[in-house]
Amino acid sequence: MLSASCKFVLIRGKILFMKITVLEGDGIGPEITSEAVKVLQAVGNIYDINFEISYAAIGGDAIRKFDTPLPQETIDVCLASDAVLLGAVGVPEFDTIAPEKRPEQGLLKIRKALGGFANLRPAKIYKSLADASPLRPEILGNNTDFLIVRELLGSIYFGEPRGYEENDGNRKGYNTMSYTVSEVERVAHIAFQAAQKRNKRLASVDKANVLETSRLWRETVINVAKSYPDVKLEHLYVDATAMMLVTNPNHFDVILTENMFGDILSDEASVLTGSLGMLPSATIGGKVGLYEPIHGSAPDIAGQNIANPCGTIASAAMMLRFSSEYQEAATAIENAIEKVLEQGYRTKDIARGGEFVSTVEMGELIVKAITENSASRSNSQTV
Ligand code: NAD
Repeated sequence: MLSASCKFVLIRGKILFMKITVLEGDGIGPEITSEAVKVLQAVGNIYDINFEISYAAIGGDAIRKFDTPLPQETIDVCLASDAVLLGAVGVPEFDTIAPEKRPEQGLLKIRKALGGFANLRPAKIYKSLADASPLRPEILGNNTDFLIVRELLGSIYFGEPRGYEENDGNRKGYNTMSYTVSEVERVAHIAFQAAQKRNKRLASVDKANVLETSRLWRETVINVAKSYPDVKLEHLYVDATAMMLVTNPNHFDVILTENMFGDILSDEASVLTGSLGMLPSATIGGKVGLYEPIHGSAPDIAGQNIANPCGTIASAAMMLRFSSEYQEAATAIENAIEKVLEQGYRTKDIARGGEFVSTVEMGELIVKAITENSASRSNSQTV
């Protein structure tokens, strides 16, 4: 039984079933996740999926209620789910408390508890938003749509030994970059499988001309590739990849890379799309998948009903794609976001000073597009 800290909502569909925990978090988190839940409700009704949704506390919200950014109860509820949808964490009022008690610790700890080792970040440039990209139209083309698969639990961010030393008055800081074959294999399989569902091209990014870790990475990826003969594999150095992302982004379908390279390249890729508010992410491979927009809690606009919910709604689509069998429902959400943008609706962050709709209106427009697309599809099937 859930205790008082967890809300519980049952969205009634008919046949299929999925248990989701929503971590609303801080700032705009509750506003954007509630639009994503509305959208899930809409696809649940159309595709006969029962979404059982639990809510639990994380971040500053959890500190206020439980004096910790991640109560054990939240971990338990998440681990008992099929997937977790997170808004964002972070509140200025807690910026000055001890680092281990800050809201952001809740995020790091839930990622660790769920055990996901592959972080998936699509970088899709919606045609109707192409003018928001910093790239010139002739470079951007009209089809930029690639996926970065970043290894999340290994390499230099976690490697030991790490620390500081002092010799003869000269201080040194050091970290260790290392990978085992099994760590590379498991994330490579995810990347190859993602490529199979897309355009069957995979670029594995390393620095094999300099680093032993990268040479092992490359050898391992080549071995894993034998199980995916339908996927075309290429190897690129990270420096060349950084350049290609801004000179020829259409070159890419799926990019597979290690933790630190992926951290940097995925931020570079997100800027190409023009708005933080549009982009989803997924962390998979662990016990339970974690789905969240790439942005933070945006305290500067919290509570004003102007946040862009599209990144969170697209994260819900990723959740259906990677943590369930409901691929059609995922596509319905993605198509609806695209349709609403093509119709010219914009939240404030992408309106470029023009007219804009609120967070709630954007959620409602996406629900309406899902319903209309489904109605026109069933009409055309009966004609
Ligand atoms: P941020 O991503 O929250 O905001 C950066 C800028 O983008 C702000 O101007 C904000 O208004 C805007 N923005 C972000 N999301 C938007 C959306 N959906 N719609 C419209 N505009 C949007 O980054 P920040 O300001 O550096 O950090 C704020 C807090 O969020 C900090 O406490 C930080 O630690 C935390 N944070 C959390 C996560 C996470 O939960 N995954 C990620 C990054 C930052």
